Amino acid sequence: MHEDHETDHHDHHGHAHGHGHFHDHDNRYTDMQARVRALETVLVEKGLIDPKAVDAIVETYETKIGPKNGARVVAKAWSDPAFADWLKADATAAIASLGYAGRQGEHMRAVFNTVDTHNLIVCTLCSCYPWAVLGLPPTWYKAPAYRSRAVIDPRGVLAEFGLALPKETKIRVWDSTAELRYLVIPERPDGTDGLDEQALAALVSRDAMIGTAIAGVPS
Ligand code: FE
Repeated sequence: MHEDHETDHHDHHGHAHGHGHFHDHDNRYTDMQARVRALETVLVEKGLIDPKAVDAIVETYETKIGPKNGARVVAKAWSDPAFADWLKADATAAIASLGYAGRQGEHMRAVFNTVDTHNLIVCTLCSCYPWAVLGLPPTWYKAPAYRSRAVIDPRGVLAEFGLALPKETKIRVWDSTAELRYLVIPERPDGTDGLDEQALAALVSRDAMIGTAIAGVPS
């Protein structure tokens, strides 16, 4: 009788310990992030994937594959005034005509940089991003520092990205939502008159379409 009690007690203690351990929640992650992280951990531990390879894939989607769609939209707007007008009037339809549509049916708005005005995109609330044209958002786009400071001190944020705009240039900050996402159309660089759309698209980086950079110049 006494021994049974001891055994029960030990079992219970052991279980309680394990229980606490396995339910050690980390509230930094959403459900989906936690699942992805757990999967990645298991795959790495089993030697099935190299975390560096995962980072490389994510980076490719962030900086290359995704933004290529947006760059094509920008290049067409630079080359085709009628398309640029359509993009200004109804970006959702103009962008969809190239085959890029939001998976959640969100609306798009294209904001055009001019000599006087530079546009910058943020989502102050979370990380709303024009997936259809830019792919995965970069880590910094989701970071609280960018989300709060882009609104309070856009010029300072741009300086940190290495972009120093003339004092006279007005900066407009656009706060994305689940329903409405923005795409910055950078100014067409000088010396690009002879370039076709493909060559023009190569000058348009992801950051130029978020507004933390401008379009590149032909080398
Ligand atoms: Fe958001």
